Amino acid sequence: MKKPGRKKFLQALAAGTIALPFLIRLGGKPQAQTASGPGIISGKKYKWRMVTTWPPNFPVLGEGCNLMAQWIHEMSAGRMEIKVYGGGELVPALETFDAVRNGAAEMGSGAAYYWTGKAPAASFFAAVPFGMNAQQLNAWLLSGGGLQLWEELYAEFGLVPIPGGNTGVQMGGWFNREITSMASFQGLKMRMPGLGGRVLEKAGGTPVLLSGGEIFTGLERGIIDATEWIGPYHDYLMGFHQIAKYYYSPGWHEPGSELEIIVNKKQMDELPADLQAIVRTAALRMNQWILSEFEAKNSIYLEKLIREEGVQLRQFPQEVLDQLKVYTKEVIQELTDSNPRAKKVYESYAAFQQRAALWARSSEKVFYDEMLI
Ligand code: CA
Repeated sequence: MKKPGRKKFLQALAAGTIALPFLIRLGGKPQAQTASGPGIISGKKYKWRMVTTWPPNFPVLGEGCNLMAQWIHEMSAGRMEIKVYGGGELVPALETFDAVRNGAAEMGSGAAYYWTGKAPAASFFAAVPFGMNAQQLNAWLLSGGGLQLWEELYAEFGLVPIPGGNTGVQMGGWFNREITSMASFQGLKMRMPGLGGRVLEKAGGTPVLLSGGEIFTGLERGIIDATEWIGPYHDYLMGFHQIAKYYYSPGWHEPGSELEIIVNKKQMDELPADLQAIVRTAALRMNQWILSEFEAKNSIYLEKLIREEGVQLRQFPQEVLDQLKVYTKEVIQELTDSNPRAKKVYESYAAFQQRAALWARSSEKVFYDEMLI
């Protein structure tokens, strides 16, 4: 019996309007595995490994990687499988960059500020104190030439970067004493990575580098006086409200930390064009999903922290923020003076931020106080 719709299907196929995995089944046996080109899809299967800087299945960030793998599987009709490894499962978390670079894994997930030792300019693709928020950073990357600069930077390492999420604005951290002036930072030992840590140092504090698993005990035992982490959802899961009294905003040091998917360039180039598009599309979907998930969860958990846990919300005084901005300018100046590529990237970043700030102050900033609540 003739199958319904077969004629239509064959006409469409002849017209080249269907590009399909079905093609390989038409003759009753698979076609050559090497076929490629418009409208022809090879049946070749790709099994990739994704190493990550996150603990396995870490809320939002690790979950996003798992989802990305699932989407790639779905979009490729099973031709591409990604096995996701948490930090330490295949390689240590902070070897993600090198593992993808040397081909031990084809793909990775992390944040560019972990690699500033290798590429100082990478800071501008992750978090800049008093810099752009998630919306502005995405606009710079995707519509303002930022991603091209990022690709140029990573091409030197044989890697392809794709925006792979953003935390949104983070919180300023947990303190056991109120921040009333710059004097409050004198001698303050605080977990604060990246450029923010260098700003804290200029303010008289001591940035302490602790991994996620060490922070709670460090704060509880007084090894550090204060800590930043991410935002209400992750901070709640860490239980910081049990050992610190004041929760400060804004996260001036991380106004919208961008996360990344990195792909081994050689492996990417060897993928058929449609799978390359699928990998990019899945990463960009993850980019959106992670930011949305942070926004949704943070709003729920901030309320929980205030209403159920009695956390005291505080804002840094204006004079403190003003002075931290002065130190931030010095830190950025030192960075761009010492590295020509960082200078080139920052020129693009800063020009975009200046325009974005004018627009945001004239639009969203005014609107926020007028929202129906
Ligand atoms: Ca943080």
